[in-house]
Amino acid sequence: RGNDPRLPLKLLIAAPRGFCAGVDRAIEIVERALEKYGAPVYVRHEIVHNRYVVDSLKAKGAIFVEELDEVPDDAPVVFSAHGVPKAVPAEADRRKLLYVDATCPLVSKVHRQAERQIEKGQHILFIGHAGHPEVIGTMGQVPEGQITLVETLEDVASLPFAQDDNLSYLTQTTLSVDDTAEITAALEERHPRIVAPKAEDICYATSNRQAAVKIIAPSSDLVLVIGAPNSSNSLRLVEVSQRLGTDAKLIQRADEIEPEWLEGVGTLGLTAGASAPEKLVREVVDRLSEWRLVEEEPVTAAEENMIFKLPRQLTE
Ligand code: SF4
Repeated sequence: RGNDPRLPLKLLIAAPRGFCAGVDRAIEIVERALEKYGAPVYVRHEIVHNRYVVDSLKAKGAIFVEELDEVPDDAPVVFSAHGVPKAVPAEADRRKLLYVDATCPLVSKVHRQAERQIEKGQHILFIGHAGHPEVIGTMGQVPEGQITLVETLEDVASLPFAQDDNLSYLTQTTLSVDDTAEITAALEERHPRIVAPKAEDICYATSNRQAAVKIIAPSSDLVLVIGAPNSSNSLRLVEVSQRLGTDAKLIQRADEIEPEWLEGVGTLGLTAGASAPEKLVREVVDRLSEWRLVEEEPVTAAEENMIFKLPRQLTE
């Protein structure tokens, strides 16, 4: 099969990769809530999009549900890192539920901007992927009809607004940096008065992980991205590599790697989405080492030292 434990495989390991500060914080929130309130703690939606993380928290007593009506009145509930529409905490308040919000502070920042733009009478164009929980959460910060989802350049071309309508735009935090730049350029050309976000909404973790793949992909024969199929930032990492002409595959765990993939591969790139723990990276390296003589080479695009504070209700 072309695999031989004596055959060298150069492994370019992207940095930064894996957990971001928002994911770290969200997982710690569930763990601390379990310690403070005792099991079970309900979690609305996968806390972060990673099966391994979800299963580990389930084993500690977390119960994952999709909607609030599945949470009993007397149980604490955590909202996932992706953020929730305003209607969700409103309903939790109405039911007097004890809830902890694990929305990433960088997503909350976009939520607050959305509110401010509406206060200023602007109609918001929100660049994002339909159906993703972050998109549902951010669009649910403002009254219906005052925010329009834009997914593609074609969507920009068919927007029903006049050139000088009072518009602003915001974006999902985990988008492709390059695609978003194209879409915002098209928006600014069509609506020159459109108000941009104060600072880029795509988060530091998303852009750093994409930048690292841009460095490793051109020298790799294949890139593996550890991440879930519903993880937006992981899917973008696959695209970044493919656009540079290097085949890339999304895997959740090491056992999904087919030994045939390594045929003719001398250099392999490896990275992980923001919701994938480092343990899964090591698991992949171990699996590859069964088949080839792996030489690891870290490739660093940026240093990260971001830490987000936990909600006060869990630290007091
Ligand atoms: Fe926050 Fe970015 Fe991580 Fe999402 S990917 S949780 S926005 S830091």
